[in-house]
Amino acid sequence: LQGNARYQKIRDLNKGAFGFVVLALDRQTGEQVALKFIERGPENITKYVEREIINHMKLRHPHIIALREVFLTPTHLVLSMEYAAGGDLFRFVASRRGLSEPEARWFFQQLIIAVDYCHRMGVTSRDIKMENALLDGSDRPLIKLADFGFSKDSNAHSAPTSRVGTPAYLAPEVVSNQPGRVYDGQKADIWSCGVLLYAMVTDCYPFSRIGDNFLKPNQKLNAMLQRILRADYTFPDGKQLSEKIRDLISRMLVLDPSLRCSLKDIMTHPWFLEGLNSGA
Ligand code: ADP
Ligand code: MG
Ligand code: MG
Repeated sequence: LQGNARYQKIRDLNKGAFGFVVLALDRQTGEQVALKFIERGPENITKYVEREIINHMKLRHPHIIALREVFLTPTHLVLSMEYAAGGDLFRFVASRRGLSEPEARWFFQQLIIAVDYCHRMGVTSRDIKMENALLDGSDRPLIKLADFGFSKDSNAHSAPTSRVGTPAYLAPEVVSNQPGRVYDGQKADIWSCGVLLYAMVTDCYPFSRIGDNFLKPNQKLNAMLQRILRADYTFPDGKQLSEKIRDLISRMLVLDPSLRCSLKDIMTHPWFLEGLNSGA
């Protein structure tokens, strides 16, 4: 961080789609922060970067990464954020080859509370996935939802129309959406939460497999999108999943957004409420 008196780089954390993220010391507060560097320039990313900042700034919640400060360097726009020392949920789930239902419930409850807060604040994430569900550094990690790079203001004048997000998590109405047509971003977020819940307990995605390279526009990707459009998934044979979790997932992965369950339905579902406060 040449020329910046406030922040001192500690180490690299990760590479994102539009830049990179480093761990740094904030000399003003003595705290560690995550700095997300987004390259300045290309006109096409500007709209999303503006929304990322404007929407993320509205959100102050224990289960959402706090955006502290935004500043410019000659080459980058930099977001200074609360540091999530536990990495992301994708790596956590992969390292354990899937979670037990109580472990998954612990994370899922926090995620749903965070998403409910976002929706109440008028923000849809449109990029809910395990890679964007970060974890704090405690022994029993807490969820810190991050990455509002595809987020959208959910008021009626700006309903989402574009197909953004990550293929494995895309809702069918987003996959099939025609340019300029409107879909309900909140319902699309609920679908993504269903994919995430499935992925936590099975260690694979409902419409594809972990490890598929989604960046290659290949047949695997097309086959996956076709399965999404039919809500064509099964539960793996090897996993002993309870009836309750199968029921909850099947209410979230519903093709018709108007028939898909709501966040309130999720929060009152028997699987969600089981062991509430008693822990994993
Ligand atoms: P992108 O929009 O490119 O996906 P993200 O904001 O998701 O960028 O950041 C990319 C990755 O960097 C995350 O998946 C995570 O591994 C890491 N990261 C981002 N923000 C933080 C943070 N606040 N604390 C710790 N790691 C972070
Ligand atoms: Mg991300
Ligand atoms: Mg992003």
